[in-house]
Amino acid sequence: MKKLAATIAVVILAGIASTAQAQSAGAASDKEYQLLPGLAKELMDTKADPCGDFFQYACGNFSKLYPIPSDRATFGNFDMMQEHTEHVLHAMLEKAAAGGAERTANEQKIGDYYASCMDADAINRNGLKPLQPQLDRIAALKDKSELTSLLGYFQLINVNAFLGFGEQQDFKDASKQIAAVDQGGLGLPERDYYFRTGDVAEKTRRDYVQHITNILKLMGEPESQAASDAQSIMQLETALAKVSMDVTSRRDPQNIYHLMPTTDLEKLAPGVNWNRFLVEAGAPPVSELNVANPEFLKGLNALLDATDMKTIQTYLRWQVIHWTDGLVLPKAFDDEMFDFYRHKLRGQPEQRARWKRCVEATDNALGEALGQVYAAQEFPPSSKEATVLMVHDIESAMDQDISTLDWMSAETKARAKEKLHAIADKIGYPDKWRDYSKLTIARGDAFGNDQRAIIFENLRQMAKIGKPVDRGEWGMTPPTINAYYNPSMNDINFPAGILQRPFYDPKSPDAVNYGHIGAVVGHELTHGFDDEGRQFDGKGNLADWWTAQDAKQFEEKADCEVKEYGNFVAVDDVHVNGKLTLGENTADNGGLRLAYMAFLADAKRKGIDLTQKQDGYTPLQQFFIGFGQDWCGASRPEEQRMRVQTNEHAPREFRVRGVVQNMPEFGQAFGCKPGQPMMPQNSCRVW
Ligand SMILES: [Zn+2]
Repeated sequence: MKKLAATIAVVILAGIASTAQAQSAGAASDKEYQLLPGLAKELMDTKADPCGDFFQYACGNFSKLYPIPSDRATFGNFDMMQEHTEHVLHAMLEKAAAGGAERTANEQKIGDYYASCMDADAINRNGLKPLQPQLDRIAALKDKSELTSLLGYFQLINVNAFLGFGEQQDFKDASKQIAAVDQGGLGLPERDYYFRTGDVAEKTRRDYVQHITNILKLMGEPESQAASDAQSIMQLETALAKVSMDVTSRRDPQNIYHLMPTTDLEKLAPGVNWNRFLVEAGAPPVSELNVANPEFLKGLNALLDATDMKTIQTYLRWQVIHWTDGLVLPKAFDDEMFDFYRHKLRGQPEQRARWKRCVEATDNALGEALGQVYAAQEFPPSSKEATVLMVHDIESAMDQDISTLDWMSAETKARAKEKLHAIADKIGYPDKWRDYSKLTIARGDAFGNDQRAIIFENLRQMAKIGKPVDRGEWGMTPPTINAYYNPSMNDINFPAGILQRPFYDPKSPDAVNYGHIGAVVGHELTHGFDDEGRQFDGKGNLADWWTAQDAKQFEEKADCEVKEYGNFVAVDDVHVNGKLTLGENTADNGGLRLAYMAFLADAKRKGIDLTQKQDGYTPLQQFFIGFGQDWCGASRPEEQRMRVQTNEHAPREFRVRGVVQNMPEFGQAFGCKPGQPMMPQNSCRVW
């Protein structure tokens, strides 16, 4: 399901690339990866000096053993787990797809969704026929008032042409769910892609215009017309980009929160009939909503005024294809999308196997139906119990950490603890599963299934507006190898997928598990107190609970990390964006420190001798190696560049080096000397 480009929401652990927009046959690896143990010695480069480059030491052999497969732009520890999980889900889906009268209603849905997705021949035979009703509506547009209805309907089917629309918790009153209008309508990954200078950026724009041209040709336009239409589309998108906010500015919730009466929305963009828009988008009547970026709407209004209907129609035809999953389009379209978005932009040589993409598509569309089967089979109660204990340990560590901070006043400390103790822990899978009984999944109708699942989900979202918040809801499906903190919910969420080896390995020493899953738990917890999360209180409201002096201290400390990470060079001359990645870096640093404190307390309780080597390493060394190995892996240069320019997470190697550099305890554990790269004289610490 495509997420609304807009409204903030959750901060996730890993900037895992969605593999959605991708594919084609190809001999891409079908290798079945096994889950690694908590501490995998074979991944280490023990000839490297841990004090010189700890990432190399902990992970130096990873890419030799597990090179980036031809169907990936990046490959690391998370991706290996994902490959493994895909095989598990694949077996479940093949079984569900095989049919039989004994299938449950959910098994029918996931089985038939998957089987329809796999039927590439039927999809090819249909051509663009399933999209014809939408293309007809575009062709029939006579004036801009009709346009409004169409744009609203497009939101319902995830076509974010010209703008984005969705629902969110009200930042300032987290008990309320409200509608939200946001910027949107771009085909490049981020607004700066339209303006950045330099050879690579310019080539990307040329490739993009060529990609649009190719799509229009596939839709039947003659070459010369397709080329000139692509230019007009690029101009239109550039004008939208000009009034859009960049990814870094969007991290500040204050920048994307402007609650206003619906009547004010009409003043910002009178060219849009908002009541009709809202009805078509499936929203209930609303008297107020969040306009994330008011300047964008003003700009959009002017742009719609100044653009003739023919150009708008051309743009919409492109957008309808662009926002549709290539999996349910004829192969030529799918291949063209792969070529630009995966191959050119990210350096991925080959499309992923169709079955892998269909597994992922089923998880996107029916995640809690699939996840229910997955959790029952793959997530033993013992893993849940162990995680609950770990979470409580880390929360106690945070409580202690707050108590001992030398820069925070007693007043702010009390508020911080209030927030900490209000955090809800969600582990494994939801208590109450989503009900898909009203969603029809028909065998042999891949496009229709995709559309119905999208509409089902969007109507589910819209139905939340004006209702009490469901605190039990999950924003990730159970098999997901990731985790998140949601500032409006003030909850931390760990899907079953990440609560397995190597993150949690029942056979590993405690030290290793604290380094792995402990650091993950600490990471999510710290998100409640990073530069974004700290602006929300324990109830999930955007409300300032800091004294002015403490806020200033926080910002100074955070600024140290902005500079530290901003000095890392990711690829060519492209630096990590210290501001964009600040929240994640704060969470990584705080998270490992909390895990470290929790492990020390655990060791004390259990009488673990910290000087005693086991299997060649002291427990504290095992702890840091476990942490370092969370991030083993490598990215192709194109992918590395794109991540740095769009993703809130620093590339993996800096997530390791950046954190251990800031922990003198690391240097002590490995006998580093002050002044060595991993034990610099000046280090940063926020939490
Ligand atoms: Zn995070």
